[in-house]
Amino acid sequence: MIQVIGYAANEAKAALTPIHFERRNLLDNDVMVDILYCGICHTDIHQVKNEWGLSTYPMVPGHEIVGKVSEIGSQVTRFKVGDRVGIGCFVDSCRNCDACHRGLEQHCKSVIYTYNGIEKDGKTPTQGGYSNRIVVNENYVLRMPDNLPTKSAAPLLCAGITLYSPLVKWKAGPGKKVAIIGLGGLGHIGVKLAHALGAEVTVLSHSLRKQQDARKMGADNFYTTSDPKTFEKLEGYFDILINTVSSDLNLTQYLNLLKLDGTMVIVGAPEKDIHLNAHSLISSRRNLAGSLIGGLRETQEMLDFCSKHNISCDVELIPIQKVNEAYERILNSDVRYRFVIDLHSLNKM
Ligand code: NAP
Ligand code: ZN
Ligand code: ZN
Repeated sequence: MIQVIGYAANEAKAALTPIHFERRNLLDNDVMVDILYCGICHTDIHQVKNEWGLSTYPMVPGHEIVGKVSEIGSQVTRFKVGDRVGIGCFVDSCRNCDACHRGLEQHCKSVIYTYNGIEKDGKTPTQGGYSNRIVVNENYVLRMPDNLPTKSAAPLLCAGITLYSPLVKWKAGPGKKVAIIGLGGLGHIGVKLAHALGAEVTVLSHSLRKQQDARKMGADNFYTTSDPKTFEKLEGYFDILINTVSSDLNLTQYLNLLKLDGTMVIVGAPEKDIHLNAHSLISSRRNLAGSLIGGLRETQEMLDFCSKHNISCDVELIPIQKVNEAYERILNSDVRYRFVIDLHSLNKM
């Protein structure tokens, strides 16, 4: 077995502390990746706190992983030692179902999440990127385009694809008015992507504090949702709303901002159920949709799109020892705009 060090939560809501654990020896089609950087997604916090009720412990979170291939299995053809690669939210799937055939592995009933999942052997828990190395089947590893900076590209592996997929599916582009609700990790990359796709981009944020930053990211408009006039002024304005907020929102109020046939896509996943008034959907024939990360093919397409448009994330680099503090700051919306853990800091353990 391969010896690994990382940071884990040992029970729900516990602070993350150092852990030593093992990963499988390389199978023929596996690559071993020495992890350089890993983004902190709000999902890591939901999972550590067991807010979705599906968590198992000890849990090493982290699914925005960038690293270097350090060893390859005997049958590996796509990668060689030294390649810079990315690993996102899942590390395997059944490979045979309709979703897998369509490149929508994230919707496979047997998808294996990067952490808080169970390996193909049916018993070993998967552990994520807050660690120094990971072993993954080569088909579930992404190629990092050369011009993407290693640190600030890491969050593309979850935040990037989570916004790219719905923006492309609901056809954000020239002539379309897109609003991004919540300017956090997901939201800020959504602004950059929607802008690069050619849409008019508006940020709806709960304060005015992030206005200047949003404009630098490519936002055309910025409104605070704490001002009721925002909802009067923008009624019926947008083609697409993407809700990235991690806590409850009054969805009825937001749906009214959509024009005829407009679509709200929910990607934020709060702990509690959502409620809305039926009329906000019935009038103007509006749509309410959800979206879950993206498949392998589309994730590679997103990385290549970011490479072409020079898009990466605004990140604050931290040593792993500061991870619990970073969680608190994320919960207070005090992150500009993604924390990324520098895994070299594990050497100080
Ligand atoms: P984040 O960095 O914490 O950003 C969330 C943003 O929501 C905050 O920056 C804040 O933006 C806004 N917000 C937070 N609390 C709020 C409140 N009480 N009222 C109004 N706005 C509030 O989180 P993230 O990493 O972007 O993740 C966002 C959500 O998406 C999480 O629930 C996460 O689990 C989920 N997620 C879903 C997928 C998927 O595939 N569907 C993938 C990844 C993550 P402002 O300050 O601008 O208002
Ligand atoms: Zn994530
Ligand atoms: Zn499948």
